[in-house]
Amino acid sequence: MSETIALVSRIRVDQESGYLCALATAMPDEKITLFRSMSAVERARARIAIVANPDLADVAALPNLAWVQSLWAGVEQLVAAWPANGPPIVRLVDHEMSRTMAEAVLAWTYYLQRDMPAYARQQREKAWSQRIYRKPSDMTVGILGLGTLGTEAAARLTQAGFKVAGWSRSAKALPGVTTFSKDDGLIEMLRVSDIVVCLVPLTTQTRGLLHAGRLAAMKAGAALINFARGPVVVTRDLLASLDSGHLSHAVLDVFDEEPLATDSRLWRHPDVTVLPHISAPTDFGTAAAVIAENVARYRQTGRLPGGVDVARGY
Ligand code: NAP
Repeated sequence: MSETIALVSRIRVDQESGYLCALATAMPDEKITLFRSMSAVERARARIAIVANPDLADVAALPNLAWVQSLWAGVEQLVAAWPANGPPIVRLVDHEMSRTMAEAVLAWTYYLQRDMPAYARQQREKAWSQRIYRKPSDMTVGILGLGTLGTEAAARLTQAGFKVAGWSRSAKALPGVTTFSKDDGLIEMLRVSDIVVCLVPLTTQTRGLLHAGRLAAMKAGAALINFARGPVVVTRDLLASLDSGHLSHAVLDVFDEEPLATDSRLWRHPDVTVLPHISAPTDFGTAAAVIAENVARYRQTGRLPGGVDVARGY
């Protein structure tokens, strides 16, 4: 038996026990223990920590870590406070999460393409009015971020017949996707997109990425889907753009603060759809299987899974 793997988390107890159970099932030969239940000797010897919104003081109380596995795909909170000499962070890259996110992107793109917000409003007003149908092939969906999630979403949208554009930090070539990079590429993509989908990680570069100037560069009547992180979009500027009628609708799954405060204007805005961070939840079983593979490879070869670049922020 190797040393104990620490599960360091500050999540709901039912979620925590769900993960613990899935991890134990996926790694029957490993001992996985909640940080708070570990002995001083176990803490001193632990080489691997699996973390979900951890208290960093708890992570620091594991002095012998070789690496830290996040249960989330987004690691901005860890990266922001990670000590310079901290162990490498590995984020969750799970094909099932990419599939779920691509499904969400397609579902909410259809919601906007088929004018569902307008028809819901018309029903409340008992208004019988047939709006002009827009074919997917006449619409461009622009994706901000062409990583694990953005790439799969782009493929799903292309299969569904939408024209797809994508923007990333480094230049990329993807089949069927018009790609952009750099600042002028961003503006160009915003100008041609009927729907903009946000799938970039939150970093010092992407915080406030969609501010008033860039929202103004979007097509009149375009819509926004933010499935990345709240602070990538400047909420005040988004509300102003919706109020002015320049943007037609925003589907928001992520917010500056979560849960969204009950007095937030976003809840009551007629052109905003609020979702409670559900576009791509981590699946206990598949996440545990991915982590089990990472752990097994590390035990067999000493090789660490591909890590997060803390300086780059993702
Ligand atoms: P990823 O594989 O790291 O991909 C990130 C993409 O964003 C890459 O294409 C990267 O460009 C691009 N990017 C990063 N910084 C940029 C910048 N400054 N300018 C332009 N492009 C930039 O990440 P992922 O797995 O696709 O996940 C993306 C994010 O989705 C996560 O960080 C997380 O916040 C969010 N997420 C949300 C949910 C939810 O339920 N709402 C679930 C999972 C994840 P390069 O290709 O050039 O590196």
